[in-house]
Amino acid sequence: MGLLVRVAQRSRHMTFSSVRLISSFRADELQIRLTNTPSVKPDNDKLKFGAHTSDHLLEVDWTEKHGWSAPVIRPVEPLRIHPAAKVLHYACELFEGMKAYRCVDGKIRMFRPMENMERMAASAGRSALPAFDTTELLKCIKKLIAVDQEWVPYSEKCSLYIRPTFIGTEPALGVTYSNEAKLFVIVGPVGPYFPTGMKPVGLLADPQYVRAWPGGCGNFKMGSNYAPTVSVQATAAKLGCQQVLWLYGDDHEMTEVGTMNLFVYWINEQGEEELVTPPLESGLILPGVTRKSLLNLAREWNEFKVSEQTLTMATFVKAVNEGRVKEVFGAGTACIVCPVNRILYQGEELHLRTMDDPEHLTQRFYKEINDIHFYRKPHEWMEPIEEDVSEAVRKFSAQ
Ligand SMILES: *Cc1c(COP(=O)(O)O)cnc(C)c1O
Repeated sequence: MGLLVRVAQRSRHMTFSSVRLISSFRADELQIRLTNTPSVKPDNDKLKFGAHTSDHLLEVDWTEKHGWSAPVIRPVEPLRIHPAAKVLHYACELFEGMKAYRCVDGKIRMFRPMENMERMAASAGRSALPAFDTTELLKCIKKLIAVDQEWVPYSEKCSLYIRPTFIGTEPALGVTYSNEAKLFVIVGPVGPYFPTGMKPVGLLADPQYVRAWPGGCGNFKMGSNYAPTVSVQATAAKLGCQQVLWLYGDDHEMTEVGTMNLFVYWINEQGEEELVTPPLESGLILPGVTRKSLLNLAREWNEFKVSEQTLTMATFVKAVNEGRVKEVFGAGTACIVCPVNRILYQGEELHLRTMDDPEHLTQRFYKEINDIHFYRKPHEWMEPIEEDVSEAVRKFSAQ
């Protein structure tokens, strides 16, 4: 690939140019090599998040010189990466998290998958990794799910978790963009986040720890955002809290809950019933697909005010003390919603009545999204996969 094209690719992310100059791999070039030794699938009631991968993965390699190679679906095996690969030194990595469901009509569907594809392309731009055609990647992922369709749990409680990943693999030290890259996708069955009903969590809100900052990368799903949070999470656990409430700045802005977006349902200072989540403009917030979907639903219901607005600890604590905070919850693909009943902030415990009303909003969102996921409520957000892969497999076998 010529330098000019490459520059055009990179500037596409910077200038949001609508000119389609990107070269990409194509789904109709997909090659499929099936395993001879399929694994035994785990029982649905023993699924642990992230512990199981299916038999196959999708892999596409890129080099500056030759561009994208043909995408391949092949048995899952350890990757061979040079010890000098950029990803191993400078965390040149990004990922996505999404799910596929076995719906009540027997079809397998994904939830708003193009949202994840677009977010992945944005993360790639910020990471100086090459651009690709997001619709082609989605087609390849659908093929992978079709190949491993028996791994999509036969259960309305479980689902198939999908983890697209993109790494810089150039075997050369030096903090520069990687002229080699590997995009791969693994999938695996996951169980319900709350196996025994919704359980509220406690949060540690300690302003000495910061997850993201203006001009940083908190709004991209880059691996480098997450490693530094693990020890803070461990500190929270020692204090009896299940998650971290990430604060930012001198006025202790409330930003996110662990790896979930934050929602507060309260009576605001003007006496209005309002659902609030922090805005995306600051770059502190990961633009969650669940966040977007809950905002879409709430605006459609049109029963209370819905705002994307900054929340500070001072205004929040005041509202708690005045009895105006009805519910606090996190939102993300793993749990859909996660109720919060306690926040530990500067030595004080704030108690929240999120779960007190059995008809609480958190529960309503959970049920609504779940009904959509499993197609009990048919919705355009659900995208079917083409389950018949015989043609693609035949095409490859003939080669
Ligand atoms: C992934 C993620 C979310 C949730 O995004 P979804 O698309 O709803 O799963 C929220 N915050 C952070 C920091 C995340 O990494």
